[in-house]
Amino acid sequence: MQGKFKLIFSEHDAQESVTYVLVKKFQIEPNILRAEMDDTGGLMVLNMTGTEENLRDAIKYLEDQNITVVKLSKHIQRDEERCFDCGSCVSVCLSRAFSIDPVTWEVNLNYEKCVACGSCLTACPAHAVTLIL
Ligand code: SF4
Ligand code: SF4
Repeated sequence: MQGKFKLIFSEHDAQESVTYVLVKKFQIEPNILRAEMDDTGGLMVLNMTGTEENLRDAIKYLEDQNITVVKLSKHIQRDEERCFDCGSCVSVCLSRAFSIDPVTWEVNLNYEKCVACGSCLTACPAHAVTLIL
């Protein structure tokens, strides 16, 4: 199984060793989608793939290291009131989370495909997309 998670680090957490431990100790395949770190701490958004048991043990390990672990269901939010189906987001979204309905020409959004790159935020002339990491 796999899931998207946000890890929030405080100043004293062992940020750099986390992915190594996930792989070595819990046989988790981590795919880092976003990382923002400095001396005061930071956050990392990643996909983790592994068995249900290993994922559970890995999350417990992270929490024991004083790392806050948040399960993410989606990375962005689209304001349907602002969106006018211009399609600008479709061409910049390399993961194809945005697509144009061939019948209605409405722009659909598949949250499962989003990897939180942020490209659509700047591409959207209506400022309809916000990051919710
Ligand atoms: S944040 Fe990136 S991956 Fe997600 S919908 Fe926008 S362009 Fe696509
Ligand atoms: S770029 Fe913005 S307004 Fe245009 S389709 Fe995408 S979300 Fe809607």
